Amino acid sequence: MRLTQYFLPVLKENPADAQIVSHRLMLRAGMIRQQAAGIYSWLPLGFRVLKRIERIVHEEQQRVGHIPLLMPTLQPADLWRESGRYEAYGEEMLRLNDRHKRELLYGPTNEEMITDIFRAHVNSYKDLPLTLYHVQWKFRDEVRPRFGVMRGREFLMKDGYNFDLTKEDALHAYNRHLVSYLRTYERMGLQAIPMRADSGPIGGEDTHEFLVLADTGESEVFYDSEITDLTFGDRTVDPADPAACQAVLDEFTSRYARTDETHDPAVFEKIPEARRRTARGIEVGQIFYFGTKYSEPMGATVVGPDGTRVPVHMGSHGIGVSRLLGAIIEASHDDKGIIWPEGVTPFDVGIVNLKQGDSATDSACEALYAALEARGLSVLYDDRDERAGAKFATMDLIGLPWRITAGPRGLATNTVELTSRRTGETVTLAPADAVERLA
Ligand code: ATP
Ligand code: MG
Ligand code: MG
Ligand code: MG
Repeated sequence: MRLTQYFLPVLKENPADAQIVSHRLMLRAGMIRQQAAGIYSWLPLGFRVLKRIERIVHEEQQRVGHIPLLMPTLQPADLWRESGRYEAYGEEMLRLNDRHKRELLYGPTNEEMITDIFRAHVNSYKDLPLTLYHVQWKFRDEVRPRFGVMRGREFLMKDGYNFDLTKEDALHAYNRHLVSYLRTYERMGLQAIPMRADSGPIGGEDTHEFLVLADTGESEVFYDSEITDLTFGDRTVDPADPAACQAVLDEFTSRYARTDETHDPAVFEKIPEARRRTARGIEVGQIFYFGTKYSEPMGATVVGPDGTRVPVHMGSHGIGVSRLLGAIIEASHDDKGIIWPEGVTPFDVGIVNLKQGDSATDSACEALYAALEARGLSVLYDDRDERAGAKFATMDLIGLPWRITAGPRGLATNTVELTSRRTGETVTLAPADAVERLA
């Protein structure tokens, strides 16, 4: 992409209404625009990151065998009357009527709808286990939408639902989600710690939230510092093997890590004092096992091996896709701007032309641009007629992991500069070698 042909409305001034750094940087980098409280347009740069995050979520869901579908944003109120949640959900639910005065709502989550799909089409235990998921916009009329996409009213969520014959199978699905979530967040350059949590209006017995530690997080968390040494890494875990998934859950819950809702000071105080941490965290996902809470009232049953009908055991599992942009920036920025982890960056590399209009420099940049794209890298080429300082400031603000700087002086000796956004380290090398390094 050539910057002169792109749409990147960066802001020079710090937006006054943004209280936290990720919100400020997303506005300044021209990623989002607020259209109403908690409702945002995703401008091209923000949209690219959103799509990359979404793609990682899809890949990791499908890696463990979960099946994508797409449910609508609008849902009939009657479905929610069946589960008893229509009244219970309260003011966070956006309710509306169509022209025939039929009651609809903008879905805050999809347990009822997926249960309806299941009961209409699945009859036998032989069709289990089954896990369906989608990535779809949700609406929750939050009392205090704030911090940009971190607490929006309209937000993008991945929500998945498992259907199993037994509690044991459903707990395997729970553990499998934990495994896939650990991998998902690490691919985005994030450490998200599973913490014992409270199930809230979704209901149920077992639940963990995934939290990214950050001072601006809205949750208070308590943990044993040893938990932060655990990483999932590139291990392979067979998603179909209950023992293998259980082992990962056991490992990642082997140290104290809880949100304030489940915090137990008596247990916490048994941890050696030097390892006790009280901090703040951003909830980027949550997994639940809730058994037959929805299948029973809604009649989602299967014929079991002995010929009798039984309600299925279910769980639901969410990832805050749009919130993740905020969480990643909170975890990865400096005073100049965003520092994108390679897995989610909007472009892999930026090219800065130090002397636009100088034919040797222009053609060297064009050649670099073509060579990098030919290697499958996405490139943002700053071909504006601007001074170098302004170009560097833009690149630092939008946070691409790599920058290639080309100007007449270096090119006279066939060199350009390759700079890492994260470390600031710069190497001088031939343009062809810069391409090799990045490819
Ligand atoms: P919170 O405690 O922050 O209100 P929640 O527990 O109500 O979140 P869940 O029902 O667990 O949310 O939804 C799954 C995920 O969706 C959350 O872990 C979070 O990452 C994301 N999410 C929830 N509410 C919002 C929101 N208002 N804006 C952006 N993302 C959200
Ligand atoms: Mg909430
Ligand atoms: Mg919560
Ligand atoms: Mg939650």
